[in-house]
Amino acid sequence: MTLAFRSGLVALLSGDLLTGKVAMVTGAGRGIGEGIARKLAQEGAIVVCADVNQTDASNVASSLSPTGLGVRLDVSTASECDAVVTSVHERYGRLDILVNNAGINRDAMLHKMTDDQWHQVIAVDLSGVFFMTRAASRIMRAAGSGRIVNISSASWMGNIGQANYSAAKAGVVGLSRTASKELARSQVTVNAICPGFIDTVMTRGIPDAIREQQVAKIPLGRMGQPSDVAAVVAFLASDEAGYVTGEVINVGGGYVL
Ligand code: NAP
Repeated sequence: MTLAFRSGLVALLSGDLLTGKVAMVTGAGRGIGEGIARKLAQEGAIVVCADVNQTDASNVASSLSPTGLGVRLDVSTASECDAVVTSVHERYGRLDILVNNAGINRDAMLHKMTDDQWHQVIAVDLSGVFFMTRAASRIMRAAGSGRIVNISSASWMGNIGQANYSAAKAGVVGLSRTASKELARSQVTVNAICPGFIDTVMTRGIPDAIREQQVAKIPLGRMGQPSDVAAVVAFLASDEAGYVTGEVINVGGGYVL
């Protein structure tokens, strides 16, 4: 067993994959983002929890060990993204990991979808990822290292009632792959994760009968939990994943659209 492999194995087993790293997670106030923040902290990172809901962000951050920082951030506003990323960099002197998780859905059939439903989802789910990636990439390029993980969705392949959401999430895949190519020379990796059907507020509003139909299509036979997504994020954010970039990884219990 090589020394590098053994040290990687020790880190995986001991829960200190990310010790000494500073991470930022958007939409960390609940759901998948909260699960990601908890996992990254469990692996030793200092986690900045950014959410449009300041109270939720602060509550999650203060419950982490090591204690994180809760900040209010609306990712759909470029100036807010720039300001928050700059202030995190000034405070900690580094930004190693960015997880673009914040997202919303405003589902409707295409012929009934309003302009507002279209623009809101594109603004948060796609422009938000661009604004944050652009801001963080300036710091990571200068540092010569970094990890960006973008949360897309299985719906990027196209899903009835989600013209806005699937367009935004497909955009996240294209943006991630382009960023991975541009940033590779700076040793910054960029990957996208496509969760399937995950048990959060976003999916709890779905009527029981439809939920059951969806679960029946999942080969592993259950909805995913935020921790299922968080485990993959932690790996991609770690030094162990330094040779993985531009990938699009399904975390859906075997289900693909
Ligand atoms: P969620 O439970 O609705 O949580 C989303 C979080 O993002 C909330 O805390 C929300 O704040 C915050 N947020 C919303 N708009 C924001 C903005 N403009 N700026 C910053 N934060 C904002 O959703 P989730 O299920 O955890 O989803 C997380 C990500 O996974 C999303 O990108 C989603 O598209 C993706 N995803 C989810 C599933 C699933 O089955 N759940 C599947 C595939 C992909 P508020 O509390 O104020 O709303």
